[in-house]
This record gives sequence, structure tokens and C-alpha cells, in this order.
Amino acid sequence: MTERIKCLIIGSGPAGYTAAIYAARANLSPVVYEGIEPGGQLTTTTEIENFPGYPEGVAGPVMMEELKKQAQRFGTEVRFGIITKLDLSARPFTAEIDGGTGSVQADAVIVATGASAKYLGLPSEQRFRGMGVSACATCDGFFYRKKDVAVIGGGDTACEEATYLASLCRQVYLVVRKDYLRASKAMQRRVFTTPNIEVIFEHNTKEVLGDDNGVTGLLLLSNGGTEHRIDVDGVFLAIGHHPNTELVQGQVDLDEQGYIITNRGRTNVPGVFAAGDVQDPHYRQAITAAGSGCVAALECERFLAQND
Ligand code: NDP
Repeated sequence: MTERIKCLIIGSGPAGYTAAIYAARANLSPVVYEGIEPGGQLTTTTEIENFPGYPEGVAGPVMMEELKKQAQRFGTEVRFGIITKLDLSARPFTAEIDGGTGSVQADAVIVATGASAKYLGLPSEQRFRGMGVSACATCDGFFYRKKDVAVIGGGDTACEEATYLASLCRQVYLVVRKDYLRASKAMQRRVFTTPNIEVIFEHNTKEVLGDDNGVTGLLLLSNGGTEHRIDVDGVFLAIGHHPNTELVQGQVDLDEQGYIITNRGRTNVPGVFAAGDVQDPHYRQAITAAGSGCVAALECERFLAQND
């Protein structure tokens, strides 16, 4: 017989675990499936210095382990496994686990599957991830104070990150593959009027250069075919994010960028909630994800009280 649970939480980042803490304390006996990347994106960052409550900062994997323990303390069951299919057509909802090796039925589901930063796909970029290659200036910019860095991308995120980094770093290169920025005019103006940002138009990144200590530069290739090296200590990818919505596509409403549309944590499907980066194209911070996890769990509790 298929196991029946009250509250299924998919994803184990700050949104998933915060939802679990609240759901467990509300006696919903939540079950968290950790997913492909247990602990979420924060496990790929080094130090987190902007999460309230850690005056000395905390390593991403350590914080996620603590969140997990906190959720377990109140009775959350955390399972290693991936939800591979979700049927939201009728309650109880059905989730297939690990490609069909098991399944569960849930009275309510909180989707906290996160978003993944897009990377260029270069082997050298992978080699230096966490050693100079980052996809989050707010998280890692502080480590490059008074150093030279590059931001790759020409959208609002790239411009915002370049402007933020310019306040910390000596020199910021903004590497843009076209001959114009896609960002809003206001963002462009900020970039062009910041003296220590240099925009390098019509260049792609051929390779991230580095040694055992981390990144030392970027090898760029102009659209005209010439190679050109810049010396930098850090490289920030800002070429977009991909919300992890594959499980719910065609079942819940998504916005034009593919993020789940929520209203106070609720999706358009009664009993299905979403929290964290999978429903947030704007802030993408651990603390906002955690806050939205709380909202989703409180709404889930209300829903189950009214409908069961
Ligand atoms: P966007 O998709 O808007 O921009 C991505 C940028 O990365 C584009 O310049 C794109 O180039 C470039 N790019 C994509 N792939 C590659 C590649 N392989 N190599 C080099 N460059 C690449 O993403 P954003 O994250 O900037 O923004 C997402 C959404 O969030 C947008 O709607 C944006 O307006 C919004 N946003 C708003 C903010 C605000 O209002 N404060 C802040 C941040 C985001 P190309 O132009 O050539 O395609």
C-alpha cells in the first residue's frame, strides 16, 4: 500500500528546512525529500556572512546541517531521495520516488526545489567553482575587497552585481557577449557612471585561468576572433537562473520566466505550496528563502486545518 503522509516537502535548502521546522511544530509530521543537491545551493558556497544570527559568519554546508538538525528535532523525517514525478491532479497528491522505486501520497505538498544558476559549461569554470568562480556577488563579493573581478552577463543581474562589486573591489570588468546591455536603462546608467567598471562588449569567455590558489584571470575571445587576457581574482557568472520546476510544469501556474507563481506561499492548486528560489526571481537570498518557507508552512497548516 502506498504510504500516506500529511505534508511532503520537496527540497532541502533554507526554504525546505524552514518549512519543515514550522510544519513539524504544527504537528504536520513533514517528510522532506532532499533532492539532487542535499542542502541546496548554499552547500556550494563557502562562507555565509549575511544570514542573521551568525555574527562570525558560517560555512554554507554547516548552516544547512544545522537547519536539518533543527527540523529533525521537531520530528521532521528527512529522506535521501529524489522525487521524480508528481501528480497534482487530485488530492491526495502522488509522488514517485527515485524513478519508481517507491511512492508516497501527500495531503499537501510544499515545493522548495530552488533554482540553479546557469554556468557557461567550461571545464575550467567547474574546476574553479568555489575557488574564485561564483554565481552570487552578494554571497561572495566580500572576499574580493580591493581586488579585481569580472562579471559575465549583460542583464539586470550582471549590472546589479557589477555595481555592487564596484563598491568593494578595485576594478570590475563586465564581460558582455553582444554590443549592448540587455539590462534596464537605469541599471545601464549606473554601470556606465561607475568609474571602476569597465564594460568589455562583444567578448565571450574562452577559459577561466588559475592555479592551485584559485582564479588568476580570464581568457576572452572577441566576436572578431581575437584572444585577450584579463587578470582577475574572481569571476561572477550572471547569465541567468533556471528555476527547478520540471516536476510541476503543466500542473501549476508559472510566470513567463518559468518561476512558480505564488500568493502568500499558495500556488493556484489548492494544497500545493511553493517556497524559496523556485518562486522568487528577484531576491534569491537564503534569508528570503527561509522566510518564504515559513509562509508556505503556515499557509499549509491553515489549508489542512480547513480541508481535512
Ligand atoms: P537575463 O536573462 O535578463 O540576462 C542574462 C544575460 O546573460 C544576458 O545579457 C545574456 O546575453 C547573458 N548570457 C546568457 N548566456 C550567456 C552565455 N552563455 N555567455 C555569455 N553571456 C550569456 O538574466 P538576469 O538574471 O540578468 O535577469 C533575470 C530577470 O530578472 C530579468 O527579467 C531581469 O530584468 C530581472 N532582474 C531585475 C532586477 C531589478 O529590477 N533590480 C535585478 C536582477 C534581475 P544576451 O543579452 O546576449 O542574451
